[in-house]
Amino acid sequence: MSKFSDYNFKGQKALVRVDFNVPLNEKYEITDDTRIKAAIPTIKKIIDDGGSVILMSHFGRPKDGPSEKYSLKHLINHLLKLLGGIPVSFADDCIGKEAEQAAKKLQPKEVLLLENLRFHKEEEKGDEKFAGQLAKLGDVYINDAFGTAHRAHASTAIIAKFFPPDKKMFGLLMESEVASAEKVLHQSEKPFVAIIGGAKVSDKILIIENLLDRATDIIIGGGMAYTFMKAAGGKIGKSLCEEDRLDTANDLMKKAQEKNVCIHLPSDSLIANNFSNEAETSMAPSNNIPDGWMGLDIGPNACTQFCNVIKHSKTILWNGPMGVFEMQKFQHGTKAVATAIAEATEDGSFSLVGGGDSVSAVNQFGFADKVSYVSTGGGALLEYFEGKTLPGIAAIAEKN
Ligand code: AMP
Repeated sequence: MSKFSDYNFKGQKALVRVDFNVPLNEKYEITDDTRIKAAIPTIKKIIDDGGSVILMSHFGRPKDGPSEKYSLKHLINHLLKLLGGIPVSFADDCIGKEAEQAAKKLQPKEVLLLENLRFHKEEEKGDEKFAGQLAKLGDVYINDAFGTAHRAHASTAIIAKFFPPDKKMFGLLMESEVASAEKVLHQSEKPFVAIIGGAKVSDKILIIENLLDRATDIIIGGGMAYTFMKAAGGKIGKSLCEEDRLDTANDLMKKAQEKNVCIHLPSDSLIANNFSNEAETSMAPSNNIPDGWMGLDIGPNACTQFCNVIKHSKTILWNGPMGVFEMQKFQHGTKAVATAIAEATEDGSFSLVGGGDSVSAVNQFGFADKVSYVSTGGGALLEYFEGKTLPGIAAIAEKN
């Protein structure tokens, strides 16, 4: 594979897989353009070199072929604005005559956006013929869609085999995502704390297991902490609990002990009599929650306990909120953890925040630029931390 920043794109048509799967409102206006913005540096570098850019992306989950709702044409105006004057054209299909003609006509320093890849079911099936039709459009293939790197789809993985090693590479976003995840997983400076929260233990088992071989400390907060509490013999009232994961929780705690990894569970909780911002609240030890009450946030002692660990760590990975942060009454623990991570980062630690709701939390609380890296890659990042090989990464790195 080539290195994107060393490559000169002059006169080249670069076929770039981006993740433009952004949310739209009912007027087809973009409500969060983070993903588009994240791809701009890659596009600009190619244009600045004197190359042209052919963008391909999926968008939503169309079921039966083309539809107005899932057309990427709704993104053109916004893309034009973000690219500040670089011409952008659109092809109504991502393969076939129309796409081929539009790609052929494309001049240096111009951008062509192809219609939604998922209007063809062959995309998600990883169909080789479809990948070949896409590959025809460009001279060089760039994958800058970390968010879909865990999928072996035609445009994210299969397509790479149609390009020789020096004509395929990661884009700038993908490069920085991979570098920061690598830094945490394989080059972490110790102590290394992983802060895992959110609702379900079942979603995070593989990550915790993989991190047991790498982390010094694992903090477990959020709803999933109560399954661990109950597994250890605690009384958790009507807090969230996955009864069928009690053995798994015990097993993880046992393995952690064997591997000398310290698992931190919240010593106390902010409890509520129902799942609502208007609920009556109180404090209780997390292993002694009265019947009829549920833990919806970590308590003040747990905040101190967790923040101390975070402040003494050199590498910090955060996935999942400490409580129901969407409700104002239960966001204190998540905010406290975000603050401690920001302080540790300021003192020189490396912090990576990734995977769904912890990203929303750092954005909501204004901490996004106070941590070392905020990943754009939800599911892909989680699979990376589970120790899996991501097809989108392997396809570029592999020699064919
Ligand atoms: P996840 O997608 O697994 O990271 O879970 C995120 C969700 O977990 C958020 O919507 C939170 O509101 C929820 N959550 C966090 N703490 C709790 C808790 N103690 N009880 C119930 N839900 C929680």
